[in-house]
Amino acid sequence: MKRRLLSRYRDLVRQRYEIVFKLAVESLRRGDKEYARKLCAYIKEMAERTRVRIPRTIKRSICENCHTPLIPGLTSTVRLRSQSRRFAYRVVRCIECGYIYRYPYKIRR
Ligand SMILES: [Zn+2]
Repeated sequence: MKRRLLSRYRDLVRQRYEIVFKLAVESLRRGDKEYARKLCAYIKEMAERTRVRIPRTIKRSICENCHTPLIPGLTSTVRLRSQSRRFAYRVVRCIECGYIYRYPYKIRR
């Protein structure tokens, strides 16, 4: 029973992450960067307080350095770099603060 309650709780928190992130993206598109940043900082704060992990898609869409939602073409640039035939990585750069993220991935053939 306790376990079920905990998973329900996590579910609710995750739903909240998604709603808040959506709001942040919307306000960024409207041009309100300050508010978008505040919302993303709130998501991070919520994760710290509740110890519920932020879904990967959202986590990778928030700049660690300045909390701006990273939208390709608007607040971030995305480049693909390959190091060898098997290994490559995605380079995401935050336009706001210039922070660079590298996410490796395997090339499937
Ligand atoms: Zn940034």
